[in-house]
Amino acid sequence: MATPADSPEDVQRQAAAARTLAELTADSITCRACPRLVAWREEVARVKRRSFADEPYWGRPIPGWGDEQARIAIVGLAPAAHGGNRTGRIFTGDRSGDWLFAALYRAGLAAKPTSVRADDGQQLFGIRLVAAVRCAPPANKPTTQERDTCRPWLVRELELLAPTLKVIVVLGGFGWQALLPNLAAAGYGLPRPLPRFGHGVRVDLSDADGREISLVGCYHPSQQNTFTGKLTERMLDDVLELAKTLAPIGS
Ligand code: SF4
Repeated sequence: MATPADSPEDVQRQAAAARTLAELTADSITCRACPRLVAWREEVARVKRRSFADEPYWGRPIPGWGDEQARIAIVGLAPAAHGGNRTGRIFTGDRSGDWLFAALYRAGLAAKPTSVRADDGQQLFGIRLVAAVRCAPPANKPTTQERDTCRPWLVRELELLAPTLKVIVVLGGFGWQALLPNLAAAGYGLPRPLPRFGHGVRVDLSDADGREISLVGCYHPSQQNTFTGKLTERMLDDVLELAKTLAPIGS
């Protein structure tokens, strides 16, 4: 295993050198390139939320997770302090993840309707979950510099998924803004002006090798959106159905 990445240059070099998703995961989970996020993720893991006081916290970067031959990727902005940062699996252990996994199960993309622990037996079929920024940020807001420092991990993840990837579902406007530069770095041509985020918005892109993917916007399943009805189960189901139509699983 490589020495933990400790600078943007280390992240760039290690991500580019990863030959497989397993190597990328192994290298990214030791990353310490963003001092503010390292301090926050470890502080949260030490202090803990009272309701999880008896549980060990992961307290490290959250790698992409799911099918290594995914035809659909779901990209969020960053893990939650007491969700992924606690359990070690993306979108696992928080309310947003509860919504997302229930929808994935309804769509036939997950083995179970819940994802509560990294060892709970959950599986994804034809789909992979990834965060644009791998460490939980204070107030769920990474800085622009942190987002840029983390970019090579996501770019490499997209490159390694490229042979099978057909659709990227992007959760929320911040995730959309974070993802677009990653797509450009991964070789996909972006229209000008840059496409704006919206729920159900679809943008078709291709790279220099002629590989085509569709980008689909989806409101983030945050409690703010689900409690207010801005995002309903039906709306989330419709986005996943669109993604399945664009990238039939098993075809
Ligand atoms: S946010 Fe990304 S680049 Fe920064 S420390 Fe975490 S894994 Fe490393």
